Parts: sequence; C-alpha cells; structure tokens
Amino acid sequence: MMKFILNQETMEIDEPLGKPTLDFIRDSGLKGSKEVCHEGDCGACMILLGELKGEELVYRAVTSCILPLGEVEAKHVVTIEGINQEKLSPIQQALVDTGGVQCGYCTPGFVISLTGFFMKSKLGNEDILTAIEGNVCRCTGHASIIRAAKLLSEKYSSVKQSNQSWIKSLIDEGILPGYFEGIKEKLKELKKAKRQTKGRLVAGGTDLFVQNETIDNPVFLSNMGLDKIWSDNDFIHIGTMANTEQIRLSPELNMILDIEEHLSTVSSLPIRKQATIGGNIANASPIGDLTIYFLALNADISIRLDEVNRIIKLKDFYKGYKILDLQEGEILEWVRIRNEKKLFSFEKVAKREHLDIASVNSALSFTLIDNKMKEIQLSAGGIGPIPMILEKTSALLENKEISSSLIKEAAEIALTEISPIDDVRGSAKYKSLLLRQLIYAHFLKLFPAMEESL
Ligand SMILES: Cc1cc2nc3c(=O)[nH]c(=O)nc-3n(C[C@H](O)[C@H](O)[C@H](O)COP(=O)(O)OP(=O)(O)OC[C@H]3O[C@@H](n4cnc5c(N)ncnc54)[C@H](O)[C@@H]3O)c2cc1C
Repeated sequence: MMKFILNQETMEIDEPLGKPTLDFIRDSGLKGSKEVCHEGDCGACMILLGELKGEELVYRAVTSCILPLGEVEAKHVVTIEGINQEKLSPIQQALVDTGGVQCGYCTPGFVISLTGFFMKSKLGNEDILTAIEGNVCRCTGHASIIRAAKLLSEKYSSVKQSNQSWIKSLIDEGILPGYFEGIKEKLKELKKAKRQTKGRLVAGGTDLFVQNETIDNPVFLSNMGLDKIWSDNDFIHIGTMANTEQIRLSPELNMILDIEEHLSTVSSLPIRKQATIGGNIANASPIGDLTIYFLALNADISIRLDEVNRIIKLKDFYKGYKILDLQEGEILEWVRIRNEKKLFSFEKVAKREHLDIASVNSALSFTLIDNKMKEIQLSAGGIGPIPMILEKTSALLENKEISSSLIKEAAEIALTEISPIDDVRGSAKYKSLLLRQLIYAHFLKLFPAMEESL
C-alpha cells in the first residue's frame, strides 16, 4: 500500500511501484494528461510533483510517463484537472489570447509547465522559456505559445513576494485553486512505508522507464540521502543521486568549470531535474554526457556494498558493452574529481543542438606548464561500445607544446582508437568525422587564435 495526494484527494493504493504514474492517472479516469511519446520527450503527460523539503513544499514539473508510482509516495501529484477552475486561469487565458491552442493535445502539458514556473517561491532571473523546453507542439510552431509565456512573464514579474505564502499569492491571482493552501498540512500526515532493499535499482528512472513499461521489484535510491555535493581542499564529491540540473548549478563545480554552460545542452529542464549522475554512469550508455564529462576529469567513483566501499577510476568501471565492474548488491555511491582548475572543453553533436542525446560527444582536460600540456585526458562517446578515454591520443599530446600539426596528428591517431558503428545516430564514417572535428573544436575553443592554422 502507498499513500499520496492526487489533486485534492488523498489516495491509498495497492499498485506495482514500478508502474508509470501516467498509466495510473489515466486508468483512474483523469484523461487530461496525454500519452504521446511515452519516453519523456514531448511533455504531453506533464504533471506537477510537490514534496516537503524540511518545512518547504516544493513543486516541479515532471514527465509522468517515465515516473514510477513509487516516486510519488507521500507527495502531491497535480494533473491538469487539479489546476482547472470555473474560469480559465491567467495561464490558460494567455494561451487562448495568443492563439497558442490549436488541436489542444499538448496544451495540458504546457499549462502544467508554465504553472510550475510560477510556483517557485523565487522566480529569480530564470527565463520562462526554460520552463517549456521539454514541451513539444506540432501545430503552432511554438511562436504563439512563446508569446503567451513572455506575456505572462512580464505580467507577473511585478508581483512582489509579501509576508503571505507564495502559494497564497498564486491562489489570489487565480493561477492555483484554493485547495492548494491546505496541501502542506495534509502531506505532513503521510508517511513513506518501509520498502524492500533487494531488486532493480532505480535512480531518476529516465533511462529505465524509457525501455520498460513496468519494472518489477524496484528499489528507489531517492530515499537514501545520496544527493549531496560537497568539497574540501582536495576533492569535490558528487553523490550518485545528484541530478543533472543540481550539478549544472553547483557553486562548488562552477568554481573550477564552466559547467552551467556545458550541461545546458543536456536534455530538457524536467529531465535534467530527474536524471542523476549515478544513473548516467551506471546505465553504461556509450554516449552518456555526464560520463564523458567526468571521464575527462579523471574522476574516481566509490562503489558500496553494505558497510564497505571501494574506490576505482571511472575509466576502469567499463569492461565491455553494458558490462560494468559492479557486483550483485553493490551501488555506485559517489563520484569525485580533484578540486582544481584545469583547461577544459566539452563538446557534443546531436541531431538537435539542444535537449538531445549525442551522436558523438567528447571532453578534454589538461594543465599547461611551461607551455606544455600535462595530465591530458581526452574522452569520447558514441565511437565504440563503451564511453572511453582515448589513451593513445592522450599519450601523444602529453608533455607537448600545442601546435596545429600536433593537433592534426592527434586527430588522426584518435581515429585508429575507435570502432564506431552505423546506427540511427549516424554512419560509422560520419561519427569518425565528427570526432575529428570535435578534437579541433576543443582546441579552437581554448585557443581561438589557432583558427588560422587549424
Ligand atoms: C527525454 C530524454 C532526454 C535525454 N537526454 C539526454 C542527454 O541529452 N544526455 C544524456 O547523457 N542522457 C540523456 N538522457 C538519458 C538519461 O536521462 C540519463 O542517462 C540519466 O542520467 C540517467 O539517470 P537516471 O537517474 O534517470 O537513471 P535510471 O534510469 O534510474 O537508471 C539507469 C541505470 O543505472 C542503474 N543505476 C542507477 N543508479 C545507480 C547506482 N547508484 N548504483 C548502481 N546502479 C545504478 C539503474 O539500475 C539502471 O540500470 C535522456 C533521457 C530522456 C528520457
């Protein structure tokens, strides 16, 4: 049995915890959340998920098609039916006024995402368009929806935080129905049940639930407090459950890397807030962006079995296609990198510039001492069965002065280390060409003056 609140109603249900939340919602008769891609890509199934973090009730927009039911336990699930009131909300009205509603299939998802944007207690400077970057509309060409979003952003930027709760302000503005005011107290009464600890590990579920309808025996890592990022003089540690957006905005990491910008091309905001570093690494996809990023930073990982942990290099974790140095019962616990600034570049090429899985990605890091490259690590993904460090190429560059002839030679050596295949992300030849261009791109980004000679 598990309890949660669905719109206004407290639910007590006995359903498989690994069932997609969207399926449960629609089976319950709430058909406003639409099923389209069932892969977290289009946003038609978007819901709001509210949870207590200490004394604060925090909401975020989530794609319910890849959200397992077990993850909504003791939380507030809000579907479009839970937003609807007698009159259209200002968000719904803005979409109508700008012609942002045509066939209407994607509309509930857009309304939810925009409502989620306004539910943050501090709106800050975040661009409202990031709130709808995970929503797709096939009729309007998006222009009218973007107009609606901008109008709303202008209208509400002047609403000041007062002493009353932000939720109360949104109720007064007609954005939320009145029942939202009582949700915090109701949630405090809901407790999570004790769950099994043996079964399929689920982190954010953004890889797992794309491939499976329902997962048997899920073990949710989200309750284990493994989402911290912390630093000391020597290292920055990243808990396995830290999500991509949390990593992207981490003050510790942004002190030594331009990670906020680098990771902006990784998926959409709702997926970034759900997808963890541990899942990216343990999924062992040859093109995981975080994996390629942290490989080039020569990361260590900690693997835990009960009370004992062992620390290995991330690059030694991969033994073959989807074969890991991970035994039964072990979990990836954290990732760490040295707390030092290096010259660093991350590049990815995908079919879409943003929000897409790469065809090929690559990262490069090194320090420059007396004009020579030291501790060089060049990683690449999409060019073989595992995410890899290009060892021969890195060795060639090590301890050398940068020159265009050296970089051209390195790019040729790199092509001898890889074994790309033809697939939906491109032909083997295309991927080889991409890798060569990405190696050039690393150096051009770090040393723009080389443009003439490369
Ligand atoms: C719409 C969409 C867009 C995406 N775009 C990108 C993108 O641009 N770039 C990119 O790299 N990826 C992308 N992805 C893929 C996915 O979001 C990432 O790989 C993500 O980091 C996976 O993390 P997760 O927490 O969701 O993993 P999960 O799906 O929960 O788990 C993945 C695997 O790792 C295992 N696992 C998880 N945590 C642990 C642990 N601590 N110890 C041991 N095993 C563990 C699970 O058992 C499972 O086998 C996208 C996915 C979607 C749905």
